[in-house]
Amino acid sequence: MIYLDYAASAPISPEALAAATPFLTDSFGNPSSVHSLGRRAALAIAAAREQCAAAIGAEPSEIYFTSGGTEGDNWAIFSALKAGGRRIVTTAIEHAAVLNACRAAEQSGVQVVYLRPNADGLISPKQVEQSLTDDTALVSVMAANNEIGTLQPIHEIGEICRARGVLFHTDAVQAAGCVELDMGALKADMLTISAHKIGGFKGSGLLYIRKGTPISPLINGGGQERGMRSGTENAAAIVALGAAIERICADIPDRCRRISALRDKLICGLSEIPRSRLNGSRTSRLCGNVNFSFEGVQGESLVLNLDIAGVCASSASACAGGSGEPSHVLTALGLEERWLQAPLRLTLSDSTTEDEIRQTVSVVRESVERLRRAVGFK
Ligand code: PLP
Repeated sequence: MIYLDYAASAPISPEALAAATPFLTDSFGNPSSVHSLGRRAALAIAAAREQCAAAIGAEPSEIYFTSGGTEGDNWAIFSALKAGGRRIVTTAIEHAAVLNACRAAEQSGVQVVYLRPNADGLISPKQVEQSLTDDTALVSVMAANNEIGTLQPIHEIGEICRARGVLFHTDAVQAAGCVELDMGALKADMLTISAHKIGGFKGSGLLYIRKGTPISPLINGGGQERGMRSGTENAAAIVALGAAIERICADIPDRCRRISALRDKLICGLSEIPRSRLNGSRTSRLCGNVNFSFEGVQGESLVLNLDIAGVCASSASACAGGSGEPSHVLTALGLEERWLQAPLRLTLSDSTTEDEIRQTVSVVRESVERLRRAVGFK
C-alpha cells in the first residue's frame, strides 16, 4: 500500500509511542494526584509542555493542551470575541474548524469578513490591512491551507495586526513540522497545532496563547491547564505530542528539501496527463502537498480507483470528503466549473519514496484514462 494522505493523518512516530506507552500502562496516575504515580504524570506533562514551547520558540506557560485542531481554532475565536469587538476577519479558504466557528459566531450577531484569495490561493497583507476596523476582535488566517497547501504571509499579517492592536490567530495545523514556527519572530497572539498531523495521537493538540493575551476558560471544572481548560489531562497523548513535535521540528529544512524534491517529481509526472491542472501556488506551497484537477474526472471516483490500486489519497480535505459539494477552497479561487469536480489531493511525508512517486504517477494516469473512457470524455 502507498499512503499519500499525510495531511489527513500521519502515523504515530516511534519516539511519540515510546514516550506515551508508560502512561497507557503502569504510569496511569491522575496528574492531579499527590502520590508518586500522579506526580510522575504531572512531571511528564510539564516536560512535554517544555518540548512544545521549545519547538515553536514560546514559553511553556503559553502552551495549552487541547483535544486537537478543531478545539484550538474554536477556543481562539470565541475567546477573542469575549475579550471585546463584534467583528472577525478571516479567509474564505479556512478549514471548517474556523469557518464553522465563524458561522456560529454570526448567529449571535458577529460580523465576519471572509477574504477571498487570488487564483493561486494567496491572501495579501494589504487585503487584511484594508479590512481592519476599530471593532475587529480578531484576524484569523491559516498558516498553510489543508487542501492546496498554500502558505500565507502570516509574518506580514501579524505585523499589521500588531500595529493596529488587533488579535491575530493562525491555524498552523498543516504548517507545523513543515514550516519553522518561531513565536519570537511571528507576531501571532494565538496559534493552533494538532498532534495527529505530526506524529502524535488523534484527539490531541495545543493552542499557543501569547502571554498577556486576554483569554477566557474553554471548559470549567477542576482547574487543569491553569484554570483555562479543565478536565483530567490525557497524559499519554500530551507526552506523545511533546516527543512528536520535538522530532518533527528538529530538522525541518533538510526534511522539507527531501520531501519537496519528491513533490516536484509528482507534480511533474501528473502535469503530463492531458487536461490536468495543479491547484494552488507553485512556489508558496507546503513541501508535501500536491493537488490536481483532471477535466472530466470526479475526484471521489478517482480516489476510490486509487484505493483499489493500493494508493491512499484524498479528494479535497478528509473532513469535507463525501459532502458532494465542490471544494470551498477551489470555489474561492474562482476556477472555471470544469476544474471544480473534486480535486485529487496527494500529501507526502519523509517516509515517501521515489518508487512510490513513480508508481503513483502511473496509477493516477491509468485511473484518469479509465474514468474518462467510462463517461465518454474526449
Ligand atoms: N485545521 C486544519 C488546517 C486542518 O487541516 C485540520 C484537520 O484536518 C484541523 C484544523 C482540525 O484538526 P483536528 O483533526 O485535530 O481537529
